[in-house]
Amino acid sequence: MDIVEVTEGRTRFFVPRQDPHLQFPPGGGPVFYNPRMELNRDVTILLLSVLRPEDYLDAMGASGARGLRVAHEIGIPVTINDWSQRAVDLARQNVERLGLSAEVTHSDANALMSVRKFDAVDLDPFGTPAPFVDAAARSAGRYLFVTATDTAPLCGAHLKAGMRRYFSRPRNTEYHAEVGLRTLLGFVVREVIKYDRGVEPLFCYAHEHFHRLHLRLRDGAAAADRTLARIGYIMQCRDCLYRTEQTGLLPEPEECPLCGADLVPVGPLWTGRINDDPTLAAMEELLPLVNVGNRARIARLLSTCRQELETSSHYDYHVIAKSLRVSPGSIETVIERLVGLGYRASRAHYSGTAIKTDAPLSVLEKVISGG
Ligand code: SAM
Repeated sequence: MDIVEVTEGRTRFFVPRQDPHLQFPPGGGPVFYNPRMELNRDVTILLLSVLRPEDYLDAMGASGARGLRVAHEIGIPVTINDWSQRAVDLARQNVERLGLSAEVTHSDANALMSVRKFDAVDLDPFGTPAPFVDAAARSAGRYLFVTATDTAPLCGAHLKAGMRRYFSRPRNTEYHAEVGLRTLLGFVVREVIKYDRGVEPLFCYAHEHFHRLHLRLRDGAAAADRTLARIGYIMQCRDCLYRTEQTGLLPEPEECPLCGADLVPVGPLWTGRINDDPTLAAMEELLPLVNVGNRARIARLLSTCRQELETSSHYDYHVIAKSLRVSPGSIETVIERLVGLGYRASRAHYSGTAIKTDAPLSVLEKVISGG
């Protein structure tokens, strides 16, 4: 294998030479490495600097990029696993080169997670993590981290694939990134609570082509019941922009109060907070001290997530402005005016034109049209 050295954070490691003529996905090489996922790995390093678990499993390690960085930059015991022999050989070479004591295992991730426990388990598969979450829920002690890159099924663009993988009915709305994140979280929750364990989201975000969950697990049926109470639906009007939320396992039929059409249930999915503010505050505090390549982007992400309302959907104010045939002002002005009228309002972290608010649609439309 033709390899080259790359640096992420404070860690140098070998990856297969990328063919510049190959378009993404970068898994075209003999061992997977995607430089565009550095931000995702940077956030893992920052969060683990805060949480400091007893040990960490990189269940799908490929070159070992993530696990190597955790071992080298956090200094906790790390296991890097992959079922590909070439990936394991490269990860071992990287571990030796860095002089780390990290363990490298050659196993099917589900088999490994069925027989061993780790304080923190990290799933980073190709596409969907759905086939791995059950074993991860049994293996993980306090923390479970999950990446999904199958955004089309999660967001409702590939509806049947989404229903098969996540046992939920996503819907392709303008707030699809939010639906994807909450559908994934709802699925992981259902896989965890059957073992009488609860889930507390620490930091969950959608970015470019992936969704990422960082979750704390709590033992006990009471914690699981508290988690179950957060499962519900976004009820979206089939004819207009109106939407509301319901909690509960079964959606209750509802009519749109604005136009009388039926509301269509989107879900089941997670409703409520997707971030833990003390954790985000601790990450913000540590960020200047941690060596990451995406410091400014992570600072912006953390700051937006800390201000973001917990509602499960947003309005795209450019879409509303277009429907009203007005030119959209700045997003800051719209948010300030909503807040000035006594409503809660914020940006959403995954889109520059998304506004979350508890203001009725009529108020939002009035503010956008400058009235
Ligand atoms: N975590 C890596 C990183 O940050 O560069 C990328 C992982 S790559 C997206 C997915 C990896 O999962 C591949 O190396 C593949 O060989 C491995 N994989 C897929 N299915 C697996 C399974 N059932 N058990 C173990 N490894 C698996």
